[in-house]
Amino acid sequence: MNYVRTLIRNLIRGPSTEVYPFGPAWTPVHFRGRVEFKLSSCTACRACEQVCAPGAIRFDKTPEGLRFMLWHNTCVFCGLCEYYCPTDAIHQTDDWHMAHATAHQYEMAIRELISYVSCTACGAKALASAPNPAGVVPPFTAEEIEIQRNLCPGCRKTALAERGVK
Ligand code: SF4
Ligand code: SF4
Repeated sequence: MNYVRTLIRNLIRGPSTEVYPFGPAWTPVHFRGRVEFKLSSCTACRACEQVCAPGAIRFDKTPEGLRFMLWHNTCVFCGLCEYYCPTDAIHQTDDWHMAHATAHQYEMAIRELISYVSCTACGAKALASAPNPAGVVPPFTAEEIEIQRNLCPGCRKTALAERGVK
């Protein structure tokens, strides 16, 4: 007769499941979901690629620059890329809405390009990556970041030293 008690209890309490996809569904606090990438903050250090155990993140050198790829379907949501990223260029959201048709599997990726530029100081070929602003006092202004983005590693080092960054 246990099922009768269960039936009556459920009738009184109402349904315990979410109405998703016809309404919002509960998401736990600190849920580790879809990874996002912010190209403008990336220093091209490639730490995220190194720590990503399943190989969901990959950088490839191309004639145009350094190509970033992150496959959502390979990601295991461990959070290591966010943990080791020095500039918060990569982080996990609590978005778990990732169901998709097989036909769309190749769209489940982030593709970005850190392009090559000519160093504005010496003309050398360099990646237009962001400088690491950690511990810089006073913080970089948007203009300073833009200037450093357009410098080669040598000229950037000189410019950072003048700014008091070791
Ligand atoms: S969360 Fe983990 S598996 Fe997913 S991209 Fe980051 S390091 Fe790789
Ligand atoms: S700055 Fe962050 S996102 Fe960019 S390569 Fe380094 S760890 Fe990856």
